[in-house]
Amino acid sequence: MKNKKKINIKKIIIFGIIIFIIILFFYFNIKSNNFAKPITSAPEEFKNEIKNFSTFFINKNNNTFNNKKIITVKSGDSLQRILVKEGIDQKEINKINSLLKEKIKIINLQIGQKINLLIKKENNKILLSRLSFSLNEITNIYIFANSEENYNVKIIDKILEKKNFLAKGVIKNSLYNSAQQQGVDPEIIIEFARIFGFEIDFQRDIRENDEFQILYERFEDDDGEVQKNGEIIFAYLNNNGREISLYRYKDEKNNIGYYSQDGKSIEKALMKTPINGARLSSSFGLRKHPILGYNKLHQGTDFAAPKGTPIMASGSGTIEMASWNGAYGKYVRIRHNSTYKTAYAHLSRFGKNIRRGAKVQQGQIIGYVGSTGRSTGPHLHYEVLVQNKRVNSQRLKLPSGKNLVGKEKQIFENTKEQIEELRTKLLKEKIN
Ligand SMILES: [Zn+2]
Repeated sequence: MKNKKKINIKKIIIFGIIIFIIILFFYFNIKSNNFAKPITSAPEEFKNEIKNFSTFFINKNNNTFNNKKIITVKSGDSLQRILVKEGIDQKEINKINSLLKEKIKIINLQIGQKINLLIKKENNKILLSRLSFSLNEITNIYIFANSEENYNVKIIDKILEKKNFLAKGVIKNSLYNSAQQQGVDPEIIIEFARIFGFEIDFQRDIRENDEFQILYERFEDDDGEVQKNGEIIFAYLNNNGREISLYRYKDEKNNIGYYSQDGKSIEKALMKTPINGARLSSSFGLRKHPILGYNKLHQGTDFAAPKGTPIMASGSGTIEMASWNGAYGKYVRIRHNSTYKTAYAHLSRFGKNIRRGAKVQQGQIIGYVGSTGRSTGPHLHYEVLVQNKRVNSQRLKLPSGKNLVGKEKQIFENTKEQIEELRTKLLKEKIN
């Protein structure tokens, strides 16, 4: 009995406190709001707060939402497919497509490219409010819904600034890896190897600790991001103590080429490395292919490279043979002139339009590395034939290309000086 009474008193006290708090709360509220203003004229912020709250609530209810999305383009994706996947009505997609067609011929989305989307859901319908992506390195496309239930399409070019970039380094396991570590774009490394491919056998000549320098143009957007590569202006290689400096020069006929310090073109009738030399790696100073060095077939040069590596015509000429050739497997032979021919064996497949009688340009892709015929692993077997006799392509002394003389030599000297100045400046900046 005593206990029950105690509990009742407790209840009364708690109840009293609650009432007191409520009264106090109302008192202060009335005081601060003054109750002079009716609730309809509540401050603007308060209204917004209600609005935000309700949007939040509705968002939760899934009636309306704004959804920002970045989509990465996958193999086989098209704009159409991406929008369908996002649940956009086909009628809306058609509207967008016809607007885009008015301004752009073809939209080629690249795998890995990013597409920005802003999607809105209204009355259970998924609508596109904004879509943007890059058409190429310099052009952006923006599409946004307007108030007339249609879309606006805007094409905006990025402003790109040309900058000179100098990379220098030491070749540790391959030119490709070492140059990439110095921030050189793969496209430029391949071009560098192509230029030196006239002079250097990238499988056998490159040594560990060989030094390189590449000076080239880059185009940066206003965020300082590189959008495009320009051309190589200067290329340097210290190959086993032999220094080769090459300068870009545009001759009287507007042909761009690379010339040594004394004005001799590096380009020769035939290349020493008729393959993507940048990708060849690992075995420094390899004299013979580890597996194929003593092959009976052998009187040629082997380049060990992954299957599918593009093979270039080492010189311009006419295809004399592009077919299966016994132990050589898939085989291409090019006749360059009355003296020289080159042959390429063990291909996995032929290049586009490579058949007997076709004309090819130096550097054109004639096929891809494989292991067809009598071969124990993917590699290019390359032969140079002089008067139809196989010769050692690596020892072959080819007449050098164009030799600048007279007035052209003078212009070249000026160009060379300007490039040297630029290089010195960039080297200084690198050290500081
Ligand atoms: Zn071989």
